Formats: sequence, C-alpha cells, structure tokens
Amino acid sequence: MGAGLAGLTAAVRARELGLSVAVLDQGSGDRYLCNSRYSGGILHLAFQDIANDPASLTRAMTEATGGFIKSSLAELLAQNGLRTVHWLRDQGVRFIRNPQVAWQHWVLAPPRAITGGLDWEGRGPDLALRTLLARLRTLGGEVHLDTRVERALIRDGRCAGLVARQPSGMVEFEANAVLVADGGFQANLDLMKQHVSPKPDGVLQRGSGMSRGDGLRLATELGAATTGMEAFYGHLLVREAFENPKLWPYPQVDEIACAGVVVDRAGERVADEGLGGVYLANQIAHRVDPLGCHVIFDAAIWDTQGRQSRIPANPHLLRGGATLVEAPTLAALAERIGVSAQGLERTVAAHNQAISTGQCAQLTPARSTAKHAPAPIVGAPFHAFAICAGITHTAGGLQIDERTRVLDQSGAPIAGLHAAGAAVGGIEGGPQAGYVGGLMKALVLGVVAAEQVAGERS
Ligand SMILES: Cc1cc2nc3c(=O)[nH]c(=O)nc-3n(C[C@H](O)[C@H](O)[C@H](O)COP(=O)(O)OP(=O)(O)OC[C@H]3O[C@@H](n4cnc5c(N)ncnc54)[C@H](O)[C@@H]3O)c2cc1C
Repeated sequence: MGAGLAGLTAAVRARELGLSVAVLDQGSGDRYLCNSRYSGGILHLAFQDIANDPASLTRAMTEATGGFIKSSLAELLAQNGLRTVHWLRDQGVRFIRNPQVAWQHWVLAPPRAITGGLDWEGRGPDLALRTLLARLRTLGGEVHLDTRVERALIRDGRCAGLVARQPSGMVEFEANAVLVADGGFQANLDLMKQHVSPKPDGVLQRGSGMSRGDGLRLATELGAATTGMEAFYGHLLVREAFENPKLWPYPQVDEIACAGVVVDRAGERVADEGLGGVYLANQIAHRVDPLGCHVIFDAAIWDTQGRQSRIPANPHLLRGGATLVEAPTLAALAERIGVSAQGLERTVAAHNQAISTGQCAQLTPARSTAKHAPAPIVGAPFHAFAICAGITHTAGGLQIDERTRVLDQSGAPIAGLHAAGAAVGGIEGGPQAGYVGGLMKALVLGVVAAEQVAGERS
C-alpha cells in the first residue's frame, strides 16, 4: 500500500526473492507525487554517516530521540543501513558524495538545485523512484496506479489483502501479506487535530500532501497499536509560504530561529530555540495559536546564521519574495509586527544578558546551548519574520517489531500485516521531537519487510 520509497523498495526486494507482488498507489501517472519524490535525497541516520559502526549509529539515534526510539528498531536501522544502501545502488540508483559533510556521504544524484520552492523533477529522489518502478516492472511485479486503498480484507483473523477504489469501481487484492507504506497521516486534518495541533490548518503541509492516514485507520481497525502520535518531522518556514510556493519546502528559518528568539504576540519566548528547528516546529504546531509567532534577530545573525545551511534563508527567502521586517529599534520592530513592544524589549534584554553571563539555562523557558549556540540581538537594524510550522510527515504511527510486523495492543503481531516508512511509529519523536531520517526508515524497513515475508513463505 503506497509506492513511495518504502513501498517500491519492498516490492522490488520481494520480487527478487520470488514473491508475487502488487503495488497499489492512489497517484496518477508514473510521476505520481509522494514525499520520497519531493525529498532532499540525503540518506543518513540521525545526521551520521550510515557507514559508521552500528553501535555508534544506535547511540546517535537513541540520543537524538531522548531514548524514545525502540532499541530493537534502532539496532535494525543501524545494522542494515549500509547493506540496504548498497542494494539500492545495485538496482541502478546513483549517489553523489558531499565530501565536506559527513552525514551527506550518500545523496541521491543529481541533488536538487540551490533555490527555494519545489525542485524534484529529474532530481535524485525522482530518478531513484523511476529506477525502482522500472526494475519492478522488469521483474514482473504489478503496479496499480489510480488505486486508493480503503480497507483490509480479513480472513480467518488475518489480514488477507486490500480493498481499493479504482476509477472503474472497487477492486479486491488478495495477498498473504500486506505492507502499509502510505507515508503517515499529515494530510488528514481530523487526525492532525486529534494528535498534532489544535489548529491543523495553521500548520503548513511541507510535502506532497498525499498521506491521509488510510493505512493507520485500516491497521487500527485490525487492532494495531500506535505510538508517539503527537510528534512530527518538519521545519520552520515563513508564514507567507502559505500563499507563495517559492517559500517551501526551502528555505527554512531554522538556523535564524536557533540563534535568535521565537516570540508570541506578547513578545514572550515560546520554546527552547537551542533544541533546533524540528523541535520548534513541533512546539509551534502544538500551540493554540500556531500562526502567532515571529522570529526576532539582528543584522549580524542575518549575515551569519542566515547564510548557513544548504539553501540559506539569506538571500533565498528574499529572492522568493518573503517580507523581511526591518526597524532601527526593537520597539519600532514590535509595532510593525503587532507584538507587545514592552514584552519584546524585556525578552531580548534577558536573552542578551543570559548570553553574556552564561546563564541561558536560567531563562524561561530555559535555553540550551549545546546543539545550537545563541547569538546576541544587539545590532540594528533589527529584523523579524512571521513564521509557521511546516509539517513534512508525522513521526508517530503503527507499532512494529524488528521484523516489521504490525503489533496489536498486547504486543502480538497481527497476522499478515506489516508496515514501513513514515507510517511507522516508535522511531522518531520523544521529548525533543528527534528526527532519525525518513529515507532510511523507508529503505531499511522496506527491504526487511520483503525479506521477512519471503522468509515466512520458504
Ligand atoms: C521536502 C522534503 C525533503 C525531505 N528530505 C529528506 C532527506 O533529505 N532525507 C531523508 O531521510 N528524508 C527526507 N524527507 C523525508 C522522506 O522523504 C520521507 O520520510 C520518506 O520519503 C517517506 O517514504 P514513504 O515511502 O514512507 O512515504 P511516501 O514517499 O510519502 O509514499 C507514500 C505513498 O503512499 C501513497 N498512498 C497514501 N495513501 C494511500 C492509499 N490510501 N492508497 C494507495 N496509496 C496511498 C501516496 O500517494 C504515496 O505515493 C524529506 C521530505 C520532504 C517532503
């Protein structure tokens, strides 16, 4: 169910192992949209090179998620990362290495352009999916597009296939095993409201918008357990990205926010900026007023942290048409953005004071410094962007074991049901909304799912 990286990987590997396979995807045409196609194409595990030794990769994932990741799944990813990337390369998928950045040693080639907005056509992730689709067809696998899965077929208490809607009507696909690989539930506003944000339409979809939690529903109807439903992978974007497609999925505002302060309408800080853009995006989405935040910084931050990252905010936000608010004083800036001047002045003074005395942990909320160092906001002109949380995909989802079998509430596997990729929970999230790497989660779990089902059949 789903022909993103997780679904296609599983299907190709399953065909290699002699299984009969049908991939069902709701998209139309061979360039159907999915997050895998939109992605930046960087294969990493918790921002580490996947060639690192498995023990250190497991530690990095555990640390990134504050211990949230299920240890058996961390080990599975760490131990199978490199061999599955080699497998992908053997399918004809090409990689490029960024020698300067250790966690970018495996990037799908060619990489996207250094520019804002979407840029997927002919880029590495698009070519990788096309390669896998062609390979699947060559190997005799079935591909059914325009096919939206609605529910599971249940026979003798096991998942025995899927029922899907095609333009001509409903079709049943019988199977010994089903893999849910539908990419999460971020585009389902009801589920988003239930788990992620009280105002889901105030959270920007930073992806294909194709994943509506159909797999989650189907599996929970079969008794599946879920985990970590409130967390997501995403980034901070300017609020104008809601109207301007040149402002998402890049450039992000993360680097600026992690150096400066993120404030609400009262001019008060809303979260620990030192924990990074994914964490901040989660915190903003959880707020009653997710569209009420600004990032505040000064000229020096704009010229240093603003120029960091692969597609830096400075100058790409301006090239894309974003409004950089500028003022000679903090009070004037506050007035321009509709924020309490008194509150903002007090917040910035406390921020600057904490940096100069080394007392950031005493701020409210406490400001950590280990991951991202704060910078003083002292030099005019002072700047602000109205910001929002961009959701790439949900981090919570179906509980699985290290054989990708979906588990029920008692921890027992549901016969015939597997899950891979962004549909799976228990890998990303935790107290700091830790991110481990969506492409590797799709690739490793896809390969392992196929091998598991083939093993059960032999
Ligand atoms: C802009 C952007 C940049 C990213 N950059 C990176 C990166 O550099 N590195 C990284 O590791 N990760 C990155 N990611 C995350 C990564 O792309 C995802 O985690 C990963 O691709 C998820 O793969 P998937 O196969 O689980 O889901 P998807 O690729 O989203 O595929 C799910 C498929 O299921 C289909 N589907 C959904 N519901 C149904 C249904 N009911 N019936 C049939 N089909 C259905 C959808 O149409 C879709 O084709 C990025 C994502 C985005 C959007």
